[in-house]
Amino acid sequence: MQNLDWSQLPFGYLKTDYNIRCYYRDGKWGELEVSSSEYINLHISATALHYGQQAFEGMKAYRGKDNKIRLFRWEENFKRMQRSADGILMQPITKELFKDAITKAVLINERFVPPHGTGAALYLRPLLIGSGPQIGVKPAEEYLFMVFTTPVGPYFKEGFTPIKIAVVRDSDRAAPLGTGSIKVGGNYASSLTGAKKAHDEGYGAPMYLDSIHKKYIDEIGAANFFGIKNNTYITPKSPSILPSITNMSIMQLAEDLGLKVERRPIDIEELETFEEVGACGTAAIISPIGEIYDIDKDKKYNFCKDGKAGLISTQIYEKLVAIQYGDETDPHNWVEIIK
Ligand SMILES: *Cc1c(COP(=O)(O)O)cnc(C)c1O
Repeated sequence: MQNLDWSQLPFGYLKTDYNIRCYYRDGKWGELEVSSSEYINLHISATALHYGQQAFEGMKAYRGKDNKIRLFRWEENFKRMQRSADGILMQPITKELFKDAITKAVLINERFVPPHGTGAALYLRPLLIGSGPQIGVKPAEEYLFMVFTTPVGPYFKEGFTPIKIAVVRDSDRAAPLGTGSIKVGGNYASSLTGAKKAHDEGYGAPMYLDSIHKKYIDEIGAANFFGIKNNTYITPKSPSILPSITNMSIMQLAEDLGLKVERRPIDIEELETFEEVGACGTAAIISPIGEIYDIDKDKKYNFCKDGKAGLISTQIYEKLVAIQYGDETDPHNWVEIIK
């Protein structure tokens, strides 16, 4: 195994040995190719560069105590990538291609799958781009599907500690009938000014509100929002939210724990009634939230008054991570051992 300080790794890019590529040309997908180069050769007029034909996924491979390597709900990542491709008229990939590519990407970089117990994992980044040239605004005729990997450390190096969020009202990441519900790079481009504003104010991430009423909670940076009160787990229902696979899993675990689960619009003013709030996504799994500052209204909402994450959030977080690493039984068959 590679010698790295696994538990101190950042959530960042670190070169591994190989990546996987596959081209769609002349109406069909070719063979998987293994490359040791971190660079791609791209036509200067590729639609990915000009018209944003680009979609990606983010997932992790986990090493268990038994040294086996596990993928978590990869079929959901595949389905979401299909939806993303359909949403911006890219050539969808097949399920076999997706599975072969992610599996191969993990196995040929096996020495970078972090040891169990370090809190680290091998992050996988499947990426689909329009590689064919166009100047008129049209979908490309050629596509490139890639998977690269990078080991990432535990998100919370100092423990499961609450983060601070700022509400931004002067920019939107997505519109209701736009591309917010698919995982495309354009949503990230449009989220950068909001994120910068939050950071400039000294906050960890922005909270976006619905772009029509500026009233209902949409997303927290690139993560879904949830709140817990009266034994109920509540997460926003909105057409501009990216359906998080982590959130989908948490909803199930909350139900397993005997909580009621609601998906509905959440008025920002409802924030003061929640006992626990948090953000969720593959990178951090759950980020408990300690403070939400509505900049323009100069209003603060405080949670975790003792500086610690709430009980239910902690319980769900620990359960989900234990399933992912194979430390606990997997009652919903979410995990697949690939080696
Ligand atoms: C990827 C992503 C998430 C989290 O989804 P997971 O499947 O849980 O990783 C949430 N919001 C946005 C905008 C995203 O792009």
